[in-house]
Amino acid sequence: MFERAILHMDLDAFFVSVECLQNNALRGKPVLIGGRSGRSVVASCSYEARRFGVHSAMPMRMALRLCPDAVVIRGDMESYSRYSDLVAEGIADDVPLYEKASIDEFYADLTGMDQHFGCWQWSCALRQKVMQETGLPISMGLSFNKLVSKV
Ligand SMILES: [Mg+2]
Repeated sequence: MFERAILHMDLDAFFVSVECLQNNALRGKPVLIGGRSGRSVVASCSYEARRFGVHSAMPMRMALRLCPDAVVIRGDMESYSRYSDLVAEGIADDVPLYEKASIDEFYADLTGMDQHFGCWQWSCALRQKVMQETGLPISMGLSFNKLVSKV
């Protein structure tokens, strides 16, 4: 029997987290990333904004109706891209088999790396390291898929 261990890492409210790194005053505030024009949509929003019912992909106009005091930031894809690469590099340093699924989502194949408990500890350590290196909050999940292999 052969078991695969897949680590999933997700950057929390990624665009907002990057903006907070660059401007501490944004921490704890409802923040919306996106344009202000009539057809703009929310690209990302802080947890404080989500409490008002705002979510990403919502028209900005609607978001501002729900949360009129929100700070609106146009967003800087170049900067988000740079931070995303930094996270990828931090993972790549430790895991040979990883995949960047999107700008804020990563998978790493830890199969064969250790026993399950070791895998979990190892993943926690990787998450801590990358969070320290980048200053970004990261969520993680570990899944095991059992595959029965017959030789
Ligand atoms: Mg995310």
